[in-house]
Formats: sequence, structure tokens, C-alpha cells
Amino acid sequence: MKTTVFLGAGASKPFGYPLTAEILPAIRRRLGVEAALFGGNDIEHAAEARLKLLLPAVLPGFYDEALELPMITDLLSLIDYSLAAGRTLIPGRPAAHLLELRTLLDWALLSVIEPDSKSALLTHPLLESFCNWLNAHGGASGEPIGVISTNYDIAVERKLFSPYTSHYAVGQVFDFGMRWRDPDIFGLYSPPLQPAYRFYKLHGSLNWLRCENCEHIYINTFGAISNLAFQERSVFNTCDCGHGPLSTVLVAPSMVRDVREPNLLGIWTHALEQLRTSQDWLIIGYSMPAEDIAIRSLLIRAYNGSGRTRPRIRIVQRDESRSTLSRYKQFFPDCEYLTGGLEGFLQTA
Ligand SMILES: [Zn+2]
Repeated sequence: MKTTVFLGAGASKPFGYPLTAEILPAIRRRLGVEAALFGGNDIEHAAEARLKLLLPAVLPGFYDEALELPMITDLLSLIDYSLAAGRTLIPGRPAAHLLELRTLLDWALLSVIEPDSKSALLTHPLLESFCNWLNAHGGASGEPIGVISTNYDIAVERKLFSPYTSHYAVGQVFDFGMRWRDPDIFGLYSPPLQPAYRFYKLHGSLNWLRCENCEHIYINTFGAISNLAFQERSVFNTCDCGHGPLSTVLVAPSMVRDVREPNLLGIWTHALEQLRTSQDWLIIGYSMPAEDIAIRSLLIRAYNGSGRTRPRIRIVQRDESRSTLSRYKQFFPDCEYLTGGLEGFLQTA
């Protein structure tokens, strides 16, 4: 039996990561405290000042506590649409300022995603039992366990990486769906032929940095590194090919999202094949929202391509939701809908 686990934002929520609706309020809260968003060095200070200036230029109601903030998806979609169409949202300012705001929002987004108590997470009981469950459903027993994640955070994989003492050792057992560079030594790793884990991140990751020259991605298996993309060039954000600073790999939530990054395109193809050939799907904390066209298309194609025996599909959600249930049942009529979240699932599994 081949099992694939699909993780949405709801799967990271119990580990302290924000849901999409909580991101913009978190950015506003942190902007209210000096140096709380990006940090205190010169570059971070300057970025904070620019964001404080540019954000209200697009959203004049941003600081009005009486108003409900829009989803960050709405804001990013609006900016992405305007950039793609060559239109501005801030009259009187050069077009480059809108692009700058977009970059600053990416940085702000990933700054609020990482929770403060990162190392405490490694001993989180729920994370421990989830990783035990993953290990019991693949790995050494034959078929590797598949994990497909839409999340940038690295809660689950950092826990799975923890028995390994080097990036190289991780590379021997993890298939990330691409060739990747070692951040510590000169090394370009291909996915192992017989991995224990197939771990595919559809929207990028906080522990990745990408080179815009040679197009390779660095994976730091010890923790997040995406903040380095916004810092001055140094040995820490320069590629083996000589180019720097490296960039984030982050497909931000936007209705106009466009996945063109070649490594990500490959990962999506691997994810499709992984789901298509799995007999057991477990979809955790993902509500299949209407704007996620690419992911819904991926799930539907994998399902329709799975042959005569359809996979067993279990949807794990925190709460009952008629609209979420309907969205799933329309496409996967036999799916099982389980409430109680990840915690509830692990108690009964
Ligand atoms: Zn490079």
C-alpha cells in the first residue's frame, strides 16, 4: 500500500503557524513595534520604513483597527494583477515602488510564518506522534511515504531530518523532487533511487534559496534560510556558481499565482505521479478553496489517472463544514471526511 499525505495550512496550525487570514493582522501587529518584523540591522530597518510607507499607500485603511483587514491573498492578487497588466495602485509613485512593495510583502510574509520557539517544536508531542505515524506508513518497510505540502514552514521535515547529522545524510533518504545544492559543502545531490521519504513542497520552502544564474536550489536541512535573500551579499547567500545574493522560493498566496520556476514545475510533476500511484490519500488541513486552481487541477488529474481502483481518500479537517465537504465530494464522491484535526486523526489512527 502506497500512502501519500497532503498538507495544507491547517496541518501547521497546531504547531503555532498562522493561517492565511492571520498573516496580514500579524504583519500589522509587528509593524507597530520597532524592529519586530524584519529585525534591527540597517537593511532591515530601511525595509521596515519602506513597508510602513508603501503599504498604506495601497491600503489607506491598513492601520484602522476598527476595520477588518483583507486576506493577504486579496492584497497580493491585486498587486500581482497590476504588475502583470502594467498598471499601478499608487499614483504619483514610480512603478518600481509597487514591485518593491511586493518584495517587502514576501519578506514580511515569511517573517511572520516562523514561530518564535522554533527549537521547542522538535519536542512537540503532536509533531512527534505525526512523524511516528509517517515513519510507520513508509520508509524502511518498502514503499517510501509521500508527503506533499503547500506550506512554506518546515515543522514536519525538520523533525524528520533530526536523526541525520548532515545535509548529505538527509539527501540519501529524502527525495525532494529535484537536484539540490548543499549549503555547507560543494555538493549537488540527485534524488536517491530508493528514498525513505518523497517530500514535495509545491509552493517553495523557508529552508530553500534559489540561484537566478544556474537555477539550482539550496536546501538547508537544519532550519530556515529564506531571510538571507534580503540581506547584503555574503558567503552565506552566494551560490557555488558565483552568483549572489540568492533568492527565496516562495509561491505566495495569490489568485494570479504563476508557477514557472523550473524546479517547482518538476516537483509538481513528481507530486502528480506520487498521488496518481498511491492507493491511500490523506489530506490534512486543506479546504480545497476555489482560488487554488492549480492544486485542485493536480488532485483531480491524479484521481482520474489512478486507474480502475480509486484511491482511498481521507480528508482531515478541524471542523464540520458543509461547503468544504461539498467541494471534495463533488470531485471525490467516496472520500471520507474526518473532523477533529490532526490531533483527532492521530488518536484514532
Ligand atoms: Zn548558481
